[in-house]
Amino acid sequence: MTTLPDARLFIDGELRDAEGGRTFDVIGPWTGEPVGKAADASAADVEAAIVAARRAFDHTDWSTNIGKRVELVTKLRALFEANRDRLSDLARHEAGAALGAVGRAHVDMALDGWDDYLAVFPQVTWEKDYGTRTGYGFESHRVAVYEPVGVVAAITPWNVPLYVNVGKVVAALLAGCTLILKPAPNTPGMGAIFGELAAEAGFPAGVVNVVFGSDPAMAGEMLVKDPRVDLISFTGSTGVGKRIMEQGAATLKRVFLELGGKSAKIVLDDAPNFAMEVATAMLVFHAGQGCAVQSRLLVPKSRYEEARAILAHGYASFGDNWGEFDNPKHIMGPVVSKRQMDRVMSYIELGIEEGATLIAGGKTRPDKGGGYFIEPTCFADVTNDMRIAREEIFGPVLVLIPFEDDDDAVRIANESDYGLSGGVASGNLDRAMRVARRIRSGSVSVNGGMCIAGDLPFGGYKASGMGREWGLEGIEEFLETKAIAWRVA
Ligand code: NAD
Repeated sequence: MTTLPDARLFIDGELRDAEGGRTFDVIGPWTGEPVGKAADASAADVEAAIVAARRAFDHTDWSTNIGKRVELVTKLRALFEANRDRLSDLARHEAGAALGAVGRAHVDMALDGWDDYLAVFPQVTWEKDYGTRTGYGFESHRVAVYEPVGVVAAITPWNVPLYVNVGKVVAALLAGCTLILKPAPNTPGMGAIFGELAAEAGFPAGVVNVVFGSDPAMAGEMLVKDPRVDLISFTGSTGVGKRIMEQGAATLKRVFLELGGKSAKIVLDDAPNFAMEVATAMLVFHAGQGCAVQSRLLVPKSRYEEARAILAHGYASFGDNWGEFDNPKHIMGPVVSKRQMDRVMSYIELGIEEGATLIAGGKTRPDKGGGYFIEPTCFADVTNDMRIAREEIFGPVLVLIPFEDDDDAVRIANESDYGLSGGVASGNLDRAMRVARRIRSGSVSVNGGMCIAGDLPFGGYKASGMGREWGLEGIEEFLETKAIAWRVA
């Protein structure tokens, strides 16, 4: 029995089955059973989407008609609002969101971000006057014009699928691009709804296309290699991000990458509420499956034992208050898939082998159902050179690392391949800001400040990616700059 409506492709303005009617089962993280059926796109389906998006960009007024874009993107936003319940169902059944978390990180944050894009859109600069300049004995008047980059392929992950899809689709459409959305095989429904509602809103054929399939790589690789696609906007793992850069090189593709993270939260010795700062670092929300989660907790060596005791107590109090599908107080459910569960468990085994001490969790919990349940887990006695401190686990696993002083904390935070986010807590704002400015990452929260919001640029340093999503910068990622000069005398 399936729970969700069938996920259908959307190509050239039509909701379609895949070529030959092929489908695949969408497996629910809570049960390990099918929760829906999705069309299994073939190479011919992907080709049709590319042709449609190219034609809509080259031969319609989409790229130049700003009023029409704002009107349709606003109309689409209203249709998403009317479908909030369905969006919640998709986040819960496909991505494994817990009922107490589904609003915040999944639906509310995504739709609020959509509103933020619409709010900042009037600030986009479409033309800039550079004035006149004399050269070669005559005068020229110069302007820069900013134009949509063309056909965009948005390749997205399963963890917060609505948020990431909105981050790319809305910005690309507002900028005047046409697009092909390619969601992950685990969350096709959260992509398909963009097609369904774009049809209802009356988007011109070919402006929005949605393709997905059981093969995680086929459609994405086609889009990356195709010369008719101008830009790849990718969110996902660093490994696939590197491959996209390599494969995109042949057509000198513009690539925009939002990749993994291993962000550090630094609690300084003067943090006014040390216990609260440590306890709120527990990695439980959405089972730790967030790219910007702070999965390394850095505390002063002098207060390490205190922090360990706070965490042991915190995890014990959290207890078994997670993993019930219908409990509105629960913010943690399963991890997304069997593959992800095996991966997280292999890191827990590795942590033990590396000599870290488990102070909470560490086991799977088949008693919670047929899905992919892993206990909230925390390791102490961790050094920053251990693999559990260096590699992204993408599960409910926190590591506790000591530091000597502020310089040492900054050194440890920065001794990472990644640089996506981070946090600093201190009773002295100047001190906290000095530390925050030295952290090499795309966002830093100081004393709990919200550094991730739809009107702020978000993205990574180093192996966490390149480019920025959200806010004005997020829309400008989809623009090209053209300089034009005319001779005046
Ligand atoms: P993934 O890299 O395996 O897959 C992401 C997307 O890429 C999916 O749509 C997948 O089908 C597609 N894909 C897979 N192989 C491909 C290939 N060879 N060519 C083109 N496309 C391909 O990642 P995932 O397992 O879906 O998601 C988890 C990862 O995503 C984590 O590492 C996490 O940190 C990262 N993530 C990052 C952010 C961010 O904003 N930085 C947000 C969410 C998730």
